[in-house]
Amino acid sequence: MSVADRGTGTVDRNSPGDRVPVDPASIVHGMPPGHEHARDAALMVHDVTVAYDRRPVLFAIDLDVPAGCLCAVVGPNGSGKTTLLRGCLGLVPLAAGHVRMLGGQRLDQVRADVAYVPQRESVDWDFPVSVRDVVRMGRLPHRRWFGRMTAEDHRRVDEAMARVEIGDLADRQIGRLSGGQQQRVFLARALAQDARLYFMDEPFAAVDATTERAILDVLRDLRRQGRTVIAVHHDLPTVAAFFDRAILLNQRLVAYGPVDEVLTPVHLERAYGGRLVPLAAAADALRTQAGG
Ligand code: ADP
Ligand code: MG
Repeated sequence: MSVADRGTGTVDRNSPGDRVPVDPASIVHGMPPGHEHARDAALMVHDVTVAYDRRPVLFAIDLDVPAGCLCAVVGPNGSGKTTLLRGCLGLVPLAAGHVRMLGGQRLDQVRADVAYVPQRESVDWDFPVSVRDVVRMGRLPHRRWFGRMTAEDHRRVDEAMARVEIGDLADRQIGRLSGGQQQRVFLARALAQDARLYFMDEPFAAVDATTERAILDVLRDLRRQGRTVIAVHHDLPTVAAFFDRAILLNQRLVAYGPVDEVLTPVHLERAYGGRLVPLAAAADALRTQAGG
């Protein structure tokens, strides 16, 4: 059992429609869905509900993510994945519940240790700044008001750009980058921050295979260093192959736990409903991996 497997077991929740009965075999008995591990959890989400214009889009989410694990957030479009991240980061108000991080602390106590890679489409790429400018923003949480960049700050920025191989793009305007390069810039900014908990919203969207491998390498490095990554990702076979845990959402928590216990045909049907065509292949891939 790896470090990442510690913590809570799979949690089953009823979906809004509740068309498919709970598969008792998918529940890990003896591992209650409470917060027994919260004290060493990297992320603790307790009974969180988020509403836009008083319309709830995320209901009563309850989960703990142990430190040192790669945790995927999975679910159909509009299922609340981005909202869950934004709620954890204090970017949208919680209608109910609370979030604790890095051993039970509030976000404002650990802000410098929490990094965010937003969805690429949510960013204004016409903003006239260079790659290096963006990566330097990762150092802001560590600086005093009006403080200058220290030698340490410059070193971290250069290291982060080198790590994702964008050193040669340092002076380029961010609007003049490919999708994959833009993802790398955000990743570099997060790495420069040297955080302990990373939230990433679709870091693999619109990247080529080379960039996908480079990003996966970075994520595994972070895990090896005991850091925690919570990443929204659509590609279920990649989630199954590279992530330790998965949060399966459809406005409610459909399932949470080790990936092979979460990405089962029953859970996927409950989360995605009729949109099962690509999922059948994913479930097959999972079974093959579990068997081999
Ligand atoms: P996902 O990331 O899983 O695609 P989101 O978290 O972006 O889903 O959205 C969840 C739901 O909340 C969707 O129905 C979406 O239309 C709605 N929503 C998202 N952002 C806003 C917003 N700023 N104002 C109103 N509704 C929103
Ligand atoms: Mg989203």
